[in-house]
Amino acid sequence: MNEEQTTPKSHFIKEIIDADLAVGKNESRIHTRFPPEPNGYLHIGHAKSIVLNFNLAREYNGLCNLRFDDTNPIKEEEEYIESIIEDVRWLGFDWEDRLYYASDYFEKLYELAEQLVLAGKAFVCDLSGDEIRAYRGTLTEPGKDSPYRDRPVDENIALFRRMRAGEFPDGTRVLRAKIDMAHPNLNMRDPVIYRILHASHPRTGDEWCIYPMYDWAHGLEDSIEKITHSLCTLEFEDHRPLYDWFLIELGVYRPRQIEFARLNLSYTVLSKRRLLQLVQEKLVSGWDDPRMPTISGMRRRGYTPIAIRNFSERVGVAKKNNIADMALLEYYLREDLNKIAPRVMAVLNPVKLVIDNYIEDQTEMLTADNNPEDESAGTREIPFSREIYIEREDFRTEPHKKFFRLYPGKEVRLKHAYIIKCESFVTDDETGEVAEIHCTYDPESRSGGAAADRKVKGTLHWVSAPHAIPAEVRLYDRLFQVSNPNSVPEGKDFKYNLNPNSLETLTAQVEPGLADATSGERYQFLRRGYFCVDSRDSRPGRPIFNRTAPLRDSWARIERQQQKRSR
Ligand code: ATP
Ligand code: MG
Repeated sequence: MNEEQTTPKSHFIKEIIDADLAVGKNESRIHTRFPPEPNGYLHIGHAKSIVLNFNLAREYNGLCNLRFDDTNPIKEEEEYIESIIEDVRWLGFDWEDRLYYASDYFEKLYELAEQLVLAGKAFVCDLSGDEIRAYRGTLTEPGKDSPYRDRPVDENIALFRRMRAGEFPDGTRVLRAKIDMAHPNLNMRDPVIYRILHASHPRTGDEWCIYPMYDWAHGLEDSIEKITHSLCTLEFEDHRPLYDWFLIELGVYRPRQIEFARLNLSYTVLSKRRLLQLVQEKLVSGWDDPRMPTISGMRRRGYTPIAIRNFSERVGVAKKNNIADMALLEYYLREDLNKIAPRVMAVLNPVKLVIDNYIEDQTEMLTADNNPEDESAGTREIPFSREIYIEREDFRTEPHKKFFRLYPGKEVRLKHAYIIKCESFVTDDETGEVAEIHCTYDPESRSGGAAADRKVKGTLHWVSAPHAIPAEVRLYDRLFQVSNPNSVPEGKDFKYNLNPNSLETLTAQVEPGLADATSGERYQFLRRGYFCVDSRDSRPGRPIFNRTAPLRDSWARIERQQQKRSR
C-alpha cells in the first residue's frame, strides 16, 4: 500500500508508544487490535479505528489482531461477522492468522473469575438489577453495600458454579467485583462481571448460560492476546481504572488502555443503533444502501479504500470530540477517483439532436482518451452519427447572458468530435418541451484533425443515438439535509433531518462500451461526476450506475451562500 498520498502524522498515541519503546517496555513489542462487537455493520468511524490500529502496527513493525468481541449473545449474528471480515480486508488490512473471538476465551474468563472469587475479590449478589442500580448511589452520593457482599468465599464459589451449571433463572443472581461502594468513580462500585442469560450464542451454542460483562471481558481479552496498547474511544476513559484493577488483582499481563476521540462526520449519523433503525424501518434499502456511512454502503457507492484510508489518517487522532467535514472525505475520494476513473460520456437527461448536413446512416469511429490525467489509460473508439443525444440542460431556446452552451445560432464543440451550430429546434405540442434540436456541423473541425484548433466557447458531451444504450442511473445525495442530524426540534428524533431528495433515479443514454461495465467499476461521466456500477442490482449487459460524487462540492457552495445570507 504505497499509493497513499499522505504521510503519516504524529499524534499523542505515537508519543506514548515512542516513550514506551524508549524504556524498552513490553520487550519493545507493539501489538494492537481492532475489536468490533458483531452487532452491526462497520461504518466510517470504525474505519478510523481500523486504520489507526493496523497502521500503528505496520509503522512500528508490530502486529494487529482482528478480534470479535462477541460476549453478548442477544444482538450478535453471523451475518455481521462475515461483513466485518469482508470490510476490513477490503480496506486493505491483513491480520494474518490472528483472527480471534472473545467467545473462544469463555472458559479462561470463567477460570479467572473463579480466581477472583477465591481471592475474596468477587461475590455472588442476589439483588435484582433495579436494586443494584438503586444501591449504586450517584455522582454526589456514595453507594450502599449489597447485603450479600460479605458472603463467605466457599459460598460464593459454590453459587457461582451453580450459576454456570444453569441452576438459576435469568436475572436472579450476578457475580460482582468487590471494590468500593463509595468510590468516586461509579464504575468501581462493585461492578457486575457475570450475568445469567439462558441464550444461545452464535458460536458457543448452549454451552454457556452465564456471560461476562464487557468491562470484565475486554481487558482480559487484551491481556490474553498480549496486546501492548489497547486503543479505544473516549467514553471508556472512566472505565480505565476498572480495566487496570482487574488485571492487577489477577496478576496477569497488563496492556495499556489509551482513549481517543471518536470520529463524527457531518451530514450523517455514526451509531450502530441508529443505522440499524434506518435499516429496520426501511428508510434505506439495507446496511449497504449507497447512502449509508457503512463501509459496505460506501463500497457500493464507489468509494475507494485509498480514499477512506487517507481520510482516516488525515482527520487525525485527538483527545477531544469534534465533527469531521463530509467535504474532506469527498475531497480524498475525488483525489483518488480523478487518478483512476476512466472518462466516458453519458447523457443523464437526454434530448435528441439531429445534424442535418451529416450523411444519413453513416457511422464514424472517433478516438477518445480514457484519462487525460493518465496516458497509460489509453484511448477508445466511440461511434458518431447523424443523430445524437445531449443533455437537455445544455440547450436553451433563449440564452441568458452567461450561457455558453447551445442555443439557436450558437456554435459549440462536441467533445472528441466536431463543432456544431444550432439552426432550429422543434417543440412537443403537448408539453411545450424541446423535442429535437437541429444543427449543422463543420466537417473540417474534427477533434485531433488537421483543422481542429478553431476555438469555440462551450464543449458538450454527447452519445450517438442509434448506438447508445439506456441505463438506470441513481443520483445519490447526502442522507441528511443538515450538518448535524442529531440537533432536532423538541419532540423529534434524528430521522426528522433525513434528506427527502437523497435518491433520484434517471434513465440515461450512455456510450455503447458501457454495456459491458461490470460490478464495482468506477467511471467519470464527463461533466457529470463519478459513477460506479451497482454491485447488487446490475445485470450482465444492463449496468446500473450509482453516483459516487459530483465533480465539485456543491454543498460547500450552498453552505457559503447560507452563511452569507444569515450574516
Ligand atoms: P456499540 O455501541 O455497539 O459498542 P461501537 O460503535 O462502539 O458500538 P464496536 O464494535 O464496539 O462498536 O467498535 C469497535 C471499535 O471501533 C472500538 O474500539 C470502538 O472504540 C471503535 N469505534 C467505534 N465507533 C467509532 C468512531 N465513531 N470513531 C472511532 N472509533 C470508533
Ligand atoms: Mg463499543
